[in-house]
Amino acid sequence: MSTVSVVIPCYNEEEAVPLFYEAFLRDTQGMPVTFELLFVDDGSRDGTLCRLEQLSQKDERVHYLSFSRNFGKESAMFAGMEAATGDYVAIMDVDLQDPPSLLPRMLEAIQNEGYDCVASRRVTRKGEPPIRSFFARAFYRLINRISKTEIVDGARDFRLMTRQMVEAILQLREVGRFSKGLFSWVGFQTKWLEYENVERVAGETKWSFWKLLLYSIDGITAFSTAPLAIASFAGVLFCLIAFGMLLFFFFKTIFFGDPVAGFPASICIILLLGGIQLFCIGILGQYLSKTYLETKKRPIYIVKTRK
Ligand code: UDP
Ligand code: MG
Repeated sequence: MSTVSVVIPCYNEEEAVPLFYEAFLRDTQGMPVTFELLFVDDGSRDGTLCRLEQLSQKDERVHYLSFSRNFGKESAMFAGMEAATGDYVAIMDVDLQDPPSLLPRMLEAIQNEGYDCVASRRVTRKGEPPIRSFFARAFYRLINRISKTEIVDGARDFRLMTRQMVEAILQLREVGRFSKGLFSWVGFQTKWLEYENVERVAGETKWSFWKLLLYSIDGITAFSTAPLAIASFAGVLFCLIAFGMLLFFFFKTIFFGDPVAGFPASICIILLLGGIQLFCIGILGQYLSKTYLETKKRPIYIVKTRK
């Protein structure tokens, strides 16, 4: 019988952990596999670790890793995949927004339909503030236009993968991880299951609007270098405009004389060009800072306790 390792990142989820465990057992009953539940406590400050200890004493299929501090969900998923021993590896949120009832269909698609990965995609954004949905959609349109790697709108991290695909992902040891892109970058055949958005069972989301915005910038710098070309394009464009204006004023002066005017216009142009220059330096700075962080080769996570 094959083994499925389920990686579950948890950050301050003491209420959700027991609810997840019960729902998971109920929904996966009768599946012809053995499970290994691998909770990753991402430096929680509440009773999450205590709950995980209790579960692991009660059920020997439950294992956990506990980080020395909060490293973020990306690091937690990586740590879980590294620790997983199963033939297949699933990644799920603990808040039950990733319905465990999809697992049998996922396994079926991998075992019988020849897919390497079955991922899930929510088709509605019900229960999310409209402004957040708007920016999310705009982000996916932008990144897919400028990146060669496809980033699927609404894709969740919830997926089941073969060992081969997991090994491929583990080879990507970058510190600034953007998993939605990494899963797609490694290739392999992915089947998408669609489902309606489900609201979390307990606790609250760890993502503020600001955090999401920064994460989207990480995603763009990790999977596209197109913004770096903005400076070159803007440079060429403004040279052309300047040349045109030069000709215009040259002939205007020759034919109509040259009264001194245009002071406010000069100020506006100086401000505009200054703004564009700073914007382009800012983009360079983004890539430079990412490069700097990667060159340090720090570990992606640090484990304090495990079982
Ligand atoms: N999570 C984590 N580390 C973090 C933030 C979140 O491990 O720093 C976990 C969290 O416990 C949950 C999953 O990642 O299991 C998804 O988080 P959340 O529900 O807050 O995100 P959302 O579903 O709103 O995108
Ligand atoms: Mg959630």
